[in-house]
Amino acid sequence: MVRVRFAPSPTGYVHIGSLRTALYNFLYAKKMNGSYVLRIEDTDQTRYVEGSIENLINCLVKTGIVHEEGPFIKGNDIEEIGSFGPYTQSKRLNIYNEYIEKLIEKDWAYTCFCSQDRLAEVRDQQKAKGETPKYDGKCRQLSKTEVEEKIKSGDPYVIRLKLPVDTIISFEDMVRGSIVFNTNDLDDQVLIKTDGFPTYHFAVVVDDHLMGITHIIRGEEWLPSTPKHVALYKAFKWEEPKYVHLPNILNDDKKKLSKRQGDVAVEDFLKKGYLPEALINYIALLGWSPDSEEEVFTMEELIQKFDLTRINKSGAVFDRNKLNWMNSIYIKSMENKKLVELITPYLLDTDIILETDFQEKPDYIQMIVETFKEKLNSLSDIVPLVNDLFKEEINFDDEMKEILKGESVPELVKVLTSEIERLDTVTPENIKKIFKIIQKEHGIKGKNLYMPVRVITTGETHGSDLMMIMSILGKEILLKRINSLIL
Ligand code: GLU
Repeated sequence: MVRVRFAPSPTGYVHIGSLRTALYNFLYAKKMNGSYVLRIEDTDQTRYVEGSIENLINCLVKTGIVHEEGPFIKGNDIEEIGSFGPYTQSKRLNIYNEYIEKLIEKDWAYTCFCSQDRLAEVRDQQKAKGETPKYDGKCRQLSKTEVEEKIKSGDPYVIRLKLPVDTIISFEDMVRGSIVFNTNDLDDQVLIKTDGFPTYHFAVVVDDHLMGITHIIRGEEWLPSTPKHVALYKAFKWEEPKYVHLPNILNDDKKKLSKRQGDVAVEDFLKKGYLPEALINYIALLGWSPDSEEEVFTMEELIQKFDLTRINKSGAVFDRNKLNWMNSIYIKSMENKKLVELITPYLLDTDIILETDFQEKPDYIQMIVETFKEKLNSLSDIVPLVNDLFKEEINFDDEMKEILKGESVPELVKVLTSEIERLDTVTPENIKKIFKIIQKEHGIKGKNLYMPVRVITTGETHGSDLMMIMSILGKEILLKRINSLIL
């Protein structure tokens, strides 16, 4: 049975690239009726950020990438579910100790007492000679008794992988094909650090094996580490998993996606009102494509279509415009009622809408949402749109001034004022009636009617449905704007 895992380190926010890794693992597991496991890789205690595990699980749950095994949030606690646990590496230290002993016994690992100073010196010398820095193997030669004595006398030490000399290590990557390395080009990787914690390289292999992981789907940045992992599988005589290394996600400038060019944290996208479904749909296409031209997919459809063999080798550019487009598609197709619910917190961020409005004026809120729905790339876009509509000062540019010079404008303004004054509330229906009166009784029609009204009431020449916009502005503001007009 297929078993895959997403194995993030809890170091802060969730990078959009991590979400893609999680998604591809999830899609593959679901497609194959396999299992998707979440494992927390927290062996580097110096990089641990408080609260990041909870944040990570929340992001995954919100985006619908829900694991079957691993840590889950239960009230204020984190609870692990599954029969291959613990799923948090810091709770597995005894397991790593057990396996490092086995490795030392097999002579595939050795104790190294070299100080940081010595290692730095060796590195500098190698660099000066133009060589790629790597550990020079000094402690490989130590005898068992020498090691025991040094440990007894309290010398700090690490445990390193003892790679065979001048040996070819190869593996198949399902995206990149056959990958071949010579051990001479690899370092004797530290497996256990001086603090007794395993390094990522050791823990990942032990855990993937013990958790029965069949396919390792992860970012391309781990490709250079894979030969070391393969060496460990060989040392233990364990069956090797299949490898799938995903292409990098790039900025427009083809460099690795970075914060400098905008948001990269999933939390930030969600906060700005990118819908989880749209985000998932967009990132699914970052490095993978279905065998059709279609681009809009539900999670269910993605599961059906997902295919590891259609993952690209080359980097995928993170196109923020395309994400905006995708998000706007999801917003437009959403029921107004649902949209109102989701957009409520953003409307409260405007200077206009109050908490009480949602109970007292639900139709008004609905009207705002309906009017601006077409213009939203993200839900938070509503804030500037509403604030701009209600702006204190209206300034006319030359084009608008020209429109206001129209022959029928003074008469139009007069009728508009008296008709609006008579209304209790402004609605699209009664604005329509007013327009009819102006057309029929005053002969002001078409461009001569709509353009000046739009300019006077909004300070714009284009925009959303005029009757809706006027209704949103309301009697008081409309009259204020009309009355402040100097022709
Ligand atoms: N803990 C690693 C990370 O933070 C996981 C790499 C892997 O999937 O093997 O990305």
